[in-house]
Amino acid sequence: MQVLHIGIDDTDSRKGMCTTYLGAIIVEKIKELGVNIIDYPKLIRLNPNWPFKTRGNCAISISIVIDNDKISSVKRIVKGSIKDLAELDDENTNPGVAFYKSFNIPNSLKDFSRKVVNDFVTIEEAEKLASKIDAEIHKFKLGRGVIGALAAIGEGLTEDYTYELIAYRIPEYRGTIRKLDKPSITKMNELTYPNTFDNVDLTSKEIRISPHTPCPILYGIRAENPVSAINAHDMVRTREPIERWIIYKTNQATDAHYIDVKINEIKLYDSVRLEGVVSSNPIKITGGHVIFKLKDETDEIHCAAFEPTKDFRRIVEKIIIGDRIKVYGGVKQKIGLPFTINLEKLEILKLAPLFDKVNPLCEKCGKRAKSAGKSKGFICKKCKKKFPENSIILKQKEREIKVGIYEVPPRARRHLSKPLIRFVNRRALPHSFECDLLYS
Ligand SMILES: [Zn+2]
Repeated sequence: MQVLHIGIDDTDSRKGMCTTYLGAIIVEKIKELGVNIIDYPKLIRLNPNWPFKTRGNCAISISIVIDNDKISSVKRIVKGSIKDLAELDDENTNPGVAFYKSFNIPNSLKDFSRKVVNDFVTIEEAEKLASKIDAEIHKFKLGRGVIGALAAIGEGLTEDYTYELIAYRIPEYRGTIRKLDKPSITKMNELTYPNTFDNVDLTSKEIRISPHTPCPILYGIRAENPVSAINAHDMVRTREPIERWIIYKTNQATDAHYIDVKINEIKLYDSVRLEGVVSSNPIKITGGHVIFKLKDETDEIHCAAFEPTKDFRRIVEKIIIGDRIKVYGGVKQKIGLPFTINLEKLEILKLAPLFDKVNPLCEKCGKRAKSAGKSKGFICKKCKKKFPENSIILKQKEREIKVGIYEVPPRARRHLSKPLIRFVNRRALPHSFECDLLYS
């Protein structure tokens, strides 16, 4: 008996297919061979900022226990399924497969996975690693998918992880409007949230479980555990047949894409998490985006809450120079502009005092003095008493935001971004977290 890990990536295009569907087909076919699958198949989201990413930028892996004499049949099934189902006609679809025979995952492969989720890796690097650890890889066309295929094997999901149950459409329905019963989904959310999450936008009530692409996915339910996923799936009513469904264990909703950095270490396309002090007040620019600058001991960088983040921008607009904050987001650069952190979450750690300027009071007349002109101090209009410029009174104002963590709404959220509800439901809270600040 052997442990065999199978990784697959880059089989889909904007026109169709989904690597998770291929995984579901392969799982079914290899089960027929009497092969045991270890744990759940894994769905690994890769660096969301990578310019060459496929639609969802996800790779999958399946780990199995197998007799030596069945290994070649399994490999034939995997490669055959890709040939049959992958969007090979699309120039941007370049599938790759990896097979790795070993119970243990070497550290070099784990490090590689982290790099693929957080950074960039070339096909050459992937090939070099494969030959070093003796993993077998197969490239279709350019074979860029070998990168994600190896990464999906190397990501052990040992720290944080979630699950997604994905239901697929029968071929006749693909490309048509998905026929889902919305009230049943709203009800499902009421009964299973927060053990299921991000399936309905709690503010806009928008249903979030189905994509809008011509892919085979009917819906996907995000959940903390497989039992909740299945319960939720049982509650969803559809007016079209479900071909099959599968549960993946995944790095979605775990913040796995972020690296902790100082500003002078930031590279384009990184997803970063860093602390600093607001160094310019937020301004609203054309298109409804809100921009400000953040500083740490190493440098300064622009941060932006873009229009699709909707009400999240109302929070960002209320921060001021001097606020100590932690930002989470992807580093982008528009032509001619500096690096900008595209905000996904914002944690306010310490609020700077905000003051109103009040003119001095003339005690004799009981009236506030008026400005005597630029740099000329103040004057009481009634008795003509003069006051020096520095006699202005600073009155502390209440801030309109509170210390706490805020997030963009689900529709603007990255697959990898951890929703705030998961901080509450699953893990100890960050020290500054207050439930009533939950923002979605
Ligand atoms: Zn006076």
